[in-house]
Amino acid sequence: MEKYLDIFLKSFTDYGGYLVREVLYPGWGNYFYWLLGLSLFFWLLEIIMPWRQHQAKIRQDFWLDGFYMFFNFFLFSLVGFNAISNVGVQAFNDFLALFGLQNLVAFEIHSWPIWAQLLTLFVVRDFIQWNVHRLLHRVDFLWEFHKVHHSVQQMGFAAHLRFHWMETVVYRTLEYIPLAMIGFGIQDFFLVHIFATAIGHFNHSNFKLPLGPLRYIFNNPQMHIWHHAKTIPRQYGINYGISLSIWDYIFCTAYVPADGRDIHLGFEEVETYPDNFLEQQTFPFKGTSVLAGKNNYTENGPANT
Ligand SMILES: [Zn+2]
Ligand SMILES: [Zn+2]
Repeated sequence: MEKYLDIFLKSFTDYGGYLVREVLYPGWGNYFYWLLGLSLFFWLLEIIMPWRQHQAKIRQDFWLDGFYMFFNFFLFSLVGFNAISNVGVQAFNDFLALFGLQNLVAFEIHSWPIWAQLLTLFVVRDFIQWNVHRLLHRVDFLWEFHKVHHSVQQMGFAAHLRFHWMETVVYRTLEYIPLAMIGFGIQDFFLVHIFATAIGHFNHSNFKLPLGPLRYIFNNPQMHIWHHAKTIPRQYGINYGISLSIWDYIFCTAYVPADGRDIHLGFEEVETYPDNFLEQQTFPFKGTSVLAGKNNYTENGPANT
């Protein structure tokens, strides 16, 4: 037990030091400055070439979402997730050791060229996340947490990282075992994580970039905005893609019926949903909200396009 407590406490001090170093020392391997750079890049695109021209450059909830970016990218890890997950990983490895197993690696891909490893990690992780995202919409209990992300009523790049910290717990927990089976370690994640963050910012940005046939592979703002539509054709949602849209086309959950530039976003009674960080964090835990309405949907909407 003492071993777990040591890991827990050490995680806080290690991560605290890491965070300070990130801010003090810019560099190409630095998450903090990549996040800052990507955010400025997409903000600039929104300013120079906005899709919704009437939308303010500093849109509704811009600063709230800016705080969410920092919180979900850094502070949540600092406050607890890093410590909890380190203990979880250690406990899981100890559990495996009971059966004489050292790790879960079922496929050894370290002999592959680095680009093939990264591509595999990117595609496999994205497919797992597509499934987790579907789950967030299907399970009432999880939907209550995911509603924070869907409470965005005016779309912009920073909305990408508006989500409840429970989502981090759900995603990381469910993707841990499959990724460990392919032998990926945390050090492999940097490039893939930065690339996925860039696409996530892009998907939420107020910016139009026609992708041509590539739209059947990569997610984009013109597709993802329909995922946020207040009125959707199916009870459990459409366009679950995170970085890739291809899963939605394969599994017939793609839906882009028209130009979604000015559609209403959110869910039923989104207007009365808490609009500040603290209340959005506590709201899903309140019993009464679990019974609150799901997304508005039309029974007979077109299946997909
Ligand atoms: Zn969603
Ligand atoms: Zn979104």
